[in-house]
Amino acid sequence: MDAKSFKAVAVRSPRGATVTEIDWADGHKGRYPHEIMRGYCPCAGCQGHSGNIVFVPPAAHQLEIDRFDAVGRYALQIVWFDGHDTGLYSYKYLRALCQCEACVGASPAASHSPVDRA
Ligand SMILES: [Zn+2]
Ligand SMILES: [Zn+2]
Repeated sequence: MDAKSFKAVAVRSPRGATVTEIDWADGHKGRYPHEIMRGYCPCAGCQGHSGNIVFVPPAAHQLEIDRFDAVGRYALQIVWFDGHDTGLYSYKYLRALCQCEACVGASPAASHSPVDRA
C-alpha cells in the first residue's frame, strides 16, 4: 500500500448511523461499524500507553459519533456523542480496522483480537 492509500477523501456518518463509511484516495470503500471504532479507541485513557490496541467492549450509549475532525494530514479525531474525544485514529490505523467485504476476512478486529498500534 502506498502513502496515497492512507488518505481519507470522504467520511459518511449520518446522525444515528451505526456504521461509518470512509472513501480512501486509492478507491477503497471502507466500512466501520461504530462498535469496532469505539472498542478500538487508541487513546491512552482507553488503552494505556503501550502494547497492541485491544478491544474494549463499548456500552450501547457510546456508539454514536458527533463528528470527525481532521488532524494534520495523517489522522482523524473522533468526537463521540458522550463527549469522548481523545482518540486520534491515524489513517494507517483506520485501514487496519476496515470491515468491508474485502478486508473483514483478514482483520483481527473482526474477531475482537488485538490490533497493531500504528
Ligand atoms: Zn479512548
Ligand atoms: Zn476495507
